[in-house]
Amino acid sequence: GSSQSALNFGAGPAKLPREVLSEVQNELLSFKDSGMSLMEMSHRSKEYSKINNDAQNAIRQLLNVPDNYKILFMQGGGTGAFAAVAMNLMNRTGSADYAVTGTWSGKAAKEAAKYGKVNLVFPKADKPGSIPAESTWTLNSNASYLYYCDNETVDGVEFHYIPNSKDVPIVCDMSSSIMTKHVDVSKFGCIIGGAQKNIGPAGVTVVIIREDLLGNPMQICPSVFDFTHINKENSVHNTPATFSVYVMEKVLQWIKKNGGVAAMEKQSAEKSKLLYDAMIQSNNFFSCPIDEDVRSRINIPFRVGGPQGNEELEAKFLEEAEKLKMYQLKGHRSVGGIRASLYNAVTSEDVTSLVKFMEEFKKRYG
Ligand code: PLP
Repeated sequence: GSSQSALNFGAGPAKLPREVLSEVQNELLSFKDSGMSLMEMSHRSKEYSKINNDAQNAIRQLLNVPDNYKILFMQGGGTGAFAAVAMNLMNRTGSADYAVTGTWSGKAAKEAAKYGKVNLVFPKADKPGSIPAESTWTLNSNASYLYYCDNETVDGVEFHYIPNSKDVPIVCDMSSSIMTKHVDVSKFGCIIGGAQKNIGPAGVTVVIIREDLLGNPMQICPSVFDFTHINKENSVHNTPATFSVYVMEKVLQWIKKNGGVAAMEKQSAEKSKLLYDAMIQSNNFFSCPIDEDVRSRINIPFRVGGPQGNEELEAKFLEEAEKLKMYQLKGHRSVGGIRASLYNAVTSEDVTSLVKFMEEFKKRYG
């Protein structure tokens, strides 16, 4: 097929750095002159052990993870981690606090309610788009943890601060924002994140957990979801998604080579500003429904043809975008409209092309 790369604005699985994919291609049939693909090697081989350890070390270095935190690679996706969090961390008091700001924190709360008592710290909004002021949250001092989703991928709502949990451990889903901004890991009890947006292909979920929170899983917790056990086995309890971890390790090295998280954060700010500025310039022809102070830098939903959106124009927008090789811009089926996801591998040039197309589209239909 054509080797020219598309402008991929997909929400996940998402665009990966082209350099990484071409490295993978070079090694695909013979990993380091072994005559075997990495895919064909034992997860207990020295080759895979090195990849496993290198990937952990890269995450530790990139996010400045303190020594008293463990880094685990799991399967089951972000959704599996929703259950795992509850089964590993809710045992202490039998309840947990959830800040539901959109689709994914809503799903996490629903999953956790299978294993204990879930308290919503503020009532769930009919339509996400804002985060209630912290002073209005009802926190429970006997909660095992306070859970929130840093960046709601579907809705486009992002926390630009870490909530104050009053000494209750904080659990955070960073699936769509991990490695896009500086994070003070020491503020968290546990961070979870699927790799398939910013740091790799689907198949591996990263868990960063404070050591003292290990050791108290529920009796019913399956061993593949047991953080304590997975940690003890250094993430090779059973066959991991070896190929996914291998590609992720390369993406992490790519981030390091390209200036680390600080550089990703700077680019993320620039890319999202280009898009939000274009909306302002368009006088609401392109319009984002999210409160300004909680707008995501990563997943940016917008309507075409005014704040309510014009579905006909939006269909035309998507159709014309595809002709220009701009793909996966359709908003999530629950939200409608358009959504542009600007993960680390999406370049400023990609976003500039999108903005040019938007300006040109408005000239014709605005
Ligand atoms: N959490 C967030 C923030 C997500 O964006 C997603 C998927 O898009 C998930 C969790 C669920 O991940 P998975 O599909 O790997 O279960």
